[in-house]
Amino acid sequence: MMSTQSIAIHLPDGTVKEVPQGTTPLEIANSISPRLAAASVVARLTPLTTGAPRAADGASGGGKAEGEAEDDSAAAMYAAENAAGPRLVDLSTPLMADTKLELIKENDPDALKVVRHSAAHVLATAVLELFPETKLGHGPATDAGFFYDFYREKPFTPEDLAAIEKKMAEVVARDEKFVREYEPREQALAEFEKDSDFMKTHFVTRFTEAGSQVSFYRNGKFVDFCRGPHVPSTGRVKAVKVTKVAGAYWLGDEKNPQLQRIYGTAFFSKKEMDEHFARLEEAARRDHRVLGKQLDLFSIQELAGAGLIFWHPKGGIIRKVMEDWMKEECLRRGYQLVYTPHVARVNLWQTSGHEGFYAGNMFTPMELDDAMYRMKPMNCPFHILIYKNSPKSYRDLPARYAELGNVYRYERSGTMHGLLRVRGFTQDDAHIFCMPSQIEDEVAACIDFAEVVLKTFGFSEFKVELSTWDPKDRAHYVGSDENWQFATGSLEKVLKQKGIPYKTIPGEAAFYGPKIDVKLVDVLGRLWQLSTVQFDFNLPARFELEYVGEDGGRHQPVMVHRALFGSVERFFGVLIEHYAGAFPLWLAPVQAGLVPISEKHTAYAAKLEAELKAAGLRVETDARNEKMNAKIRDFALQKTPYILVFGDKEEAAGAVNVRTRGKTEQSSMPLAEFIAKAKGLVASQSTEL
Ligand SMILES: [Zn+2]
Ligand SMILES: [Zn+2]
Repeated sequence: MMSTQSIAIHLPDGTVKEVPQGTTPLEIANSISPRLAAASVVARLTPLTTGAPRAADGASGGGKAEGEAEDDSAAAMYAAENAAGPRLVDLSTPLMADTKLELIKENDPDALKVVRHSAAHVLATAVLELFPETKLGHGPATDAGFFYDFYREKPFTPEDLAAIEKKMAEVVARDEKFVREYEPREQALAEFEKDSDFMKTHFVTRFTEAGSQVSFYRNGKFVDFCRGPHVPSTGRVKAVKVTKVAGAYWLGDEKNPQLQRIYGTAFFSKKEMDEHFARLEEAARRDHRVLGKQLDLFSIQELAGAGLIFWHPKGGIIRKVMEDWMKEECLRRGYQLVYTPHVARVNLWQTSGHEGFYAGNMFTPMELDDAMYRMKPMNCPFHILIYKNSPKSYRDLPARYAELGNVYRYERSGTMHGLLRVRGFTQDDAHIFCMPSQIEDEVAACIDFAEVVLKTFGFSEFKVELSTWDPKDRAHYVGSDENWQFATGSLEKVLKQKGIPYKTIPGEAAFYGPKIDVKLVDVLGRLWQLSTVQFDFNLPARFELEYVGEDGGRHQPVMVHRALFGSVERFFGVLIEHYAGAFPLWLAPVQAGLVPISEKHTAYAAKLEAELKAAGLRVETDARNEKMNAKIRDFALQKTPYILVFGDKEEAAGAVNVRTRGKTEQSSMPLAEFIAKAKGLVASQSTEL
């Protein structure tokens, strides 16, 4: 005999609804307001007690085959649900036990994933209607959209993709309900085997247990092995686009059949989708690898190797300006500049510990006649050797050693990416050795400095993260509890005193100490990790660093690593993309392009060039026998901030006609006036022209 029990549903506003067992989230939403029901996409359940019965849901997972190459996305899609934690379910799922319930609306990132996965079902529906011979793989949501793997002997053509997209629009317009169904596993397997559905057979075998019920989702005639959840119906997939098709071997093995992976993306509205594609286009237009070539800033040479950057003259001058600025600023702030070698004996890396925990990131050792050597992956041990080279007293502290140090790290081939991920780069590295009583001032000064770097180079927005340890995971951290409390406390105190909003990330500290990371936000809203300020309890102990205190006793100094650009190469890549190659005047490799109207004005061009250069400006004359407009166009393509054009009239007046990047109006002005204006903008690192 079945009796209907009542269950308690805890809503986010604190109210508790008593409802009969089997009530669905959609019914609860409707009882609150039909508008809420219409706006909800899925429901998030959090069981109130661990081990509580789950919602009615016969599917089970967990079967695991050993030693099999498996796509992570498949594992993530089909793996057993965590019954104890929060999980997403269909709005139509009958609720069987007391639970917390959140109705997830479109603004929740989880809702977007559910829509995207539902769009993958719509894609598969369309593909099977058009190409019924196709066999299905799986179709998860991804960060950027979704894909679905198909097996079909004939490749999908661009025309096929267009037809598929059209058919998807029909499936959406039909507004078919997504209905969850169950079938005994052995019956499901028999059907898949009969249809030679080798991928579905594999997934069911691998991710469900013998004797269990297997979960399917049906929309119209289309049925797919799936754990869900889904949006209520295909009509909720309001904006969807097929983006590309790519080949992939089944289970990543080239001996297996080749699949066709169709990619797409979906959004809650056409507007959001249009914005997404506009952003992608804008990001492609700003790609630093493309602009680096176009503007002749840098290259990567096949003959020399991947991940090694060649700075061309135009990139080189920008680097000089960046480095000069950084060195001057360091000196002004009480740092001392040091220079250290690129290689060192393996013994040094053993003392520092890199030979153990960091060996996998280093270039392999090279044997010379006296010892084994390694390229340096970090500058720290070198700065430590300078510190240790002479006895230090409290009067010498803080000692702040700064270096634009070249380091080499092993990155797997195929993982390099332009200036952003490389094997050789330049850190604007500094190590600060100080007394514990000085640490807060030092950290505060580092944060100030980081802010000045970002503002000077044209970034107004940034996010700060404090990475702390996980005291429960003692084995992964060096240093005493007191060390960690002191260091974390100092970092927190500085951020609070400065009123800087920050996010604490527990367990993300380096093993040797807590750190503050500053991530800048670029013009497209993308986050870039650049500046970092890190405590270190490890190296001062390993190298037995000391200073003689005021008390005459020997003490261990506190050590801080900090980098502000982070990597000069990476920072340059970010700058290129942030400015789309149109650098502010103080950074522009050529600040003004000179265009004589005809050969008659060559002598005046030489005179102008000399005067501009004498004023410290970077200029280039286009003396080719080309039309004036062609020369102007070429300077404009190079994104030159100013183009100075001159003929008889300008020569007679000692003037130039000035064209300013990004502006249509031109103005004639005496050369002296132009020089004064340009020098002013350079001196103030202005982003205006
Ligand atoms: Zn599904
Ligand atoms: Zn360091």
